[in-house]
Amino acid sequence: MEFTYRMPTKILMGKNAVLKNKHEFLGYGKKALIVTGKNSAKITGALEDVTNTLKEMNIAYAIFDRIEENPCTKTIEEAASFGKTEEAEFIIGIGGGSPLDASKAIGIMIKNKHLTEETLFSEKKFESIPVLAVPTTAGTGSETTPYAILTDHRAKTKRNLGQIVFCKAAFLDAKYTEKAPYDITVNTALDAMTHLVEGYLNTNSTYLSDMLAEKGLTLWGECVPSLLEADFDFEIREKLMLASSIGGMAIANTGTSLPHGMGYALTYFKGVPHGLANALLFKAYLRCFENKSKVEKVYKLLGFGSGEEFEEFLLKMLHADIVVSREEIEGWSEAMCSNTAKLKNHPELVAYETIYNIYEQSLSVNKG
Ligand code: NAP
Ligand code: FE
Repeated sequence: MEFTYRMPTKILMGKNAVLKNKHEFLGYGKKALIVTGKNSAKITGALEDVTNTLKEMNIAYAIFDRIEENPCTKTIEEAASFGKTEEAEFIIGIGGGSPLDASKAIGIMIKNKHLTEETLFSEKKFESIPVLAVPTTAGTGSETTPYAILTDHRAKTKRNLGQIVFCKAAFLDAKYTEKAPYDITVNTALDAMTHLVEGYLNTNSTYLSDMLAEKGLTLWGECVPSLLEADFDFEIREKLMLASSIGGMAIANTGTSLPHGMGYALTYFKGVPHGLANALLFKAYLRCFENKSKVEKVYKLLGFGSGEEFEEFLLKMLHADIVVSREEIEGWSEAMCSNTAKLKNHPELVAYETIYNIYEQSLSVNKG
């Protein structure tokens, strides 16, 4: 047995995690750049908790609250330029995966002042100023992964920045997810489930990543009745948040696999939310495995009696009919075939037809 496992992020979980752990904000610098989207950091109360804590700790701050969903490199450059002007020494990302990923990329641009929107992806191994994370969705696990997924309009897709930025600390408080509407709760929960499964059914999976994925899948499975009934109490919200962070820990070590690589096209070209995009492809993805032994374990861990039961559940969660043309899925399949980094994470041989068939079976192909 030979493997590497890394998880340097300090996890602070529980109700009022920010307010109860105010000393965890010390030691990173005199001024913080707070990075958020337009509304959710405010309506969830997370921004208020963070700013009150910083005031109490005598840490100055500036706020950049213009991170859009699936953040693009231009926004990252704007936020980094603001952070440099403000002389921020560390970053606090508050929100879903978009502000958290953006925080990591902004941190790299602040630390490496010569980088521009054009050169951000050019070389690997850039370091970031410290980043702390306060997630308000239970889905991406970005707070425990080293990844930052950005929209790159030049490449006409979403791509991982390719640098390794682990957050110094993550404050997991499920109260911030309580006001999330049903579709955001479901789509982000589906993202967490896909991380756990793609990490589990992965060429790079190890004893430790499997241990995480198995526990995460069991926790997530306990939330299935609530997802079906659209009824989430605090305990379930906490389970979803923990399952999401555990999913992040798993994929931080394994990477994601086919649905994530293929889902980016659905998000970029069709505007499908990230978690939903992965989940739409999931039935066909799980069916494409020749060796079903670990796939069967996934169903069991999630609490389903069979693959059919899981597929029925997925169908109830997926409120989307995405219409595409044959030419579109041909183009996306070709692009995916050149994404060798993602392909090698799938433990079986992947041909162009494998990819094409997953798209074809998952979407409504317009024959006109
Ligand atoms: P998101 O794009 O961060 O946010 C989606 C929407 O949800 C936004 O309108 C946001 O509002 C709103 N929102 C967030 N928290 C809310 C809350 N508690 N209540 C009500 N509304 C809320 O969504 P996400 O699914 O969490 O993140 C998706 C991004 O993460 C994608 O770019 C994806 O590629 C990336 N991702 C990263 C990783 C990784 O490892 N780094 C893994 C998977 C996915 P505001 O705009 O007002 O904030
Ligand atoms: Fe994801």
